[in-house]
Amino acid sequence: MAQLQRIAIASSQFHSQHITLTAEQHHYLCRVLRLQSGDRFIAMDGMGKWWLAQLADTQANILQSLTVETELPVALTLVIALPKGNGFDEVVRCCTELGVTCFAPVVSDRTLLNPSSQKLERWRRIAKEAAEQSERTTVPTVLEPVSFTSSLSSVNNQKYICEARGDYPHLLSCLQNQEDGESNLSSQKTIVIATGPEGGWTQTEIESAIQAGFQPVSLGRRILRAVTAPIVALSLVAAACEL
Ligand code: SAM
Repeated sequence: MAQLQRIAIASSQFHSQHITLTAEQHHYLCRVLRLQSGDRFIAMDGMGKWWLAQLADTQANILQSLTVETELPVALTLVIALPKGNGFDEVVRCCTELGVTCFAPVVSDRTLLNPSSQKLERWRRIAKEAAEQSERTTVPTVLEPVSFTSSLSSVNNQKYICEARGDYPHLLSCLQNQEDGESNLSSQKTIVIATGPEGGWTQTEIESAIQAGFQPVSLGRRILRAVTAPIVALSLVAAACEL
């Protein structure tokens, strides 16, 4: 099945035996991918399900549902103070490949970027393309940017805030300790990781996060760029989950 092209399709386009295709999807399948009537492809609903489908003129017939296990065993939310420029594009691409479930971009005290609504559409498109490319069954959600303070209110039991300076435990050791304890990483739960902007978190932000139940953690002895830190953090979670 690996050689078949994959395309994300909205769940409203799925019917019992067939898929209605938008003009854009039809163009992509026929003109860009050069598929013809009768050719097969994989349709993903972006919410965990894949189907083997066969192109038939302007629609596609559903041949069978497919079982794919490429998702992490935990839901993983990245709270990220938006990096400057197009830095978040790269974060969305790489962290989607690594298995993130939800991006929660935030504007913190030292965030330099003022995000526009077009950016949100762009990030969602990048997440969809990266999910297709990395054979994920789920397309991560990209939430609208909010202030860092309002992002802290979520009720979750395993939350980490990455802080470049200070004597904090390494994220990996925290994840391994969790695994050894009663709530291990293979159970269905949400892990939240927060990473800061180029100028770092303010002391007040760190204290608010601790009050909201976040554990401050280190990602090692070197100072990572705002774009590198989330990729490193998510790689550690993915490795701890999948080893
Ligand atoms: N200007 C800050 C300073 O000098 O302390 C560094 C900020 S760093 C470029 C951007 C963000 O990446 C930080 O806020 C933190 O969330 C994360 N980060 C970078 N290196 C880290 C490390 N070694 N451990 C934990 N978090 C790190």
